[in-house]
Amino acid sequence: MLVVVGARPQFIKAAALNRALEDDPQWRSTWVHTGQHHDEALSAQFFRELGLPQPHVTLSPRSDNRELRLGDMMHGVRDAIRSHKPQWVLVFGDTDSTLAGAWAASAEGVPLVHVEAGLRSHRWSMPEEINRVLTDRLSSVLVCPTDAAVDHLTREGIVDGPGGSQEVPHPTRPRVLRTGDVMHDNAVHFGARWPHTERGQGQVLLTMHRPSNVDDPDRLRSWLNAISSWLNARALTAVFPVHPRTAKVLDRHWPRWAEDLAEQRIQCTAPMGYVELLEAVCHAPLVLTDSGGVQKEAYSLGTRCAVLRDTTEWVEQVDRGQSQLASGPEKVAHVADALLALGRFETDDLYGDGDAAEVILRSLHESRL
Ligand code: UDP
Repeated sequence: MLVVVGARPQFIKAAALNRALEDDPQWRSTWVHTGQHHDEALSAQFFRELGLPQPHVTLSPRSDNRELRLGDMMHGVRDAIRSHKPQWVLVFGDTDSTLAGAWAASAEGVPLVHVEAGLRSHRWSMPEEINRVLTDRLSSVLVCPTDAAVDHLTREGIVDGPGGSQEVPHPTRPRVLRTGDVMHDNAVHFGARWPHTERGQGQVLLTMHRPSNVDDPDRLRSWLNAISSWLNARALTAVFPVHPRTAKVLDRHWPRWAEDLAEQRIQCTAPMGYVELLEAVCHAPLVLTDSGGVQKEAYSLGTRCAVLRDTTEWVEQVDRGQSQLASGPEKVAHVADALLALGRFETDDLYGDGDAAEVILRSLHESRL
């Protein structure tokens, strides 16, 4: 199997798969790092901390232009497939690295496994939405973490089902696996170390990096002002590990942002390592985030979550009351108060029992026979 990773959330998802691969000697894996995230903060520290193998192939795509970078990654993954001749190519999630891996697998005629298939934000303005839909179309095995994901694939006719098309333009009929979620596997694996009695007793956790929230400096400032006012009203403080994309905008438009925000109850830090981030989620009375991964980790660890977006791919969390959407800065205080009043959330098996990665490998074994 050739595993393609390239961005922070993929290193985390890959950690669960790697543990399962290490436990099953029948598998031989080749790892390709697309180089999409390549620095210490977003890449190297995760390889060390999560014990990921040294990639067999590490690409160095051009980074200044999205289209050129995507092309470089497609070309590099295709070369890696030609050299290593895998039986499967496996990609995670919705980044440009995911799409590059998917395209390369289809160009080489190697069956593609898409982990986190079927998720939809229903926003074509999000590059991630395009990446997911295209990757799903190219996949032979669609690994769905939730029933909502399976429903999307059925409704779009990507797989058979009520209303699904019988004419799927794909060399093999794609197969759907409903497995649970590999990020939940990690939260279960690492989260056991924090006693339940201490959970929810720390600082609020804030993360924000979506282009629609952070690229416009005025919008970013409105979010931060609204969050700061709410923290002040509730006598709380927040820790804010600042994504490099967000830091770049702040650096350009707000000279003393870290000091100013500290005075406004928001303590800025560098991007955290995975276990540190998970601990912050676990101990937060509330998570405020626009990250799908952090939203899911909050679910796994029983912390309520205000989603700083007008949509989420993880709709079941909203249905179950663990998350609520705060579509704009003006909504933050109301949503955060409502969630805080509910106290901690009792996690259930929405995302499985912590063994999604093992289930994926078992199912692929069966497909090979
Ligand atoms: N994460 C981390 N340190 C941080 C912020 C996030 O380790 O300072 C992890 C987090 O645990 C989550 C993943 O990064 O699993 C999410 O990545 P990101 O927010 O970049 O992507 P998204 O979830 O929006 O796809």
